[in-house]
Amino acid sequence: MNMSCSCVNNHSPDKHVCPVNGRVYASVDCRTVLHQIKTPWQRQLPEQGYYFCTDPDCKVVYFGEDERVVMCDELHTPVGQKSRAPDRQICYCFDIRANDALAD
Ligand SMILES: [Zn+2]
Repeated sequence: MNMSCSCVNNHSPDKHVCPVNGRVYASVDCRTVLHQIKTPWQRQLPEQGYYFCTDPDCKVVYFGEDERVVMCDELHTPVGQKSRAPDRQICYCFDIRANDALAD
């Protein structure tokens, strides 16, 4: 499934390696990252590419080209891809939940 929606940052490489689990993930818009963080005023998020690690076993949610990381517990809401709950949110852009997408 394509998880990138329309949130792709056009100025940076569209894929980058998670500094924790070493796998390659797709970019997200840095506004998406800022929007999710509980205390954005405490975070310095430079203009660069941000990427979304979807591995449920990896504590990193977002990471930047400079390898700075944003962890699950720094976000307002649980991240859908980090959960296996049936009502997990699988797309922020359209508020689609797994059981909506999978019900057929
Ligand atoms: Zn990761």
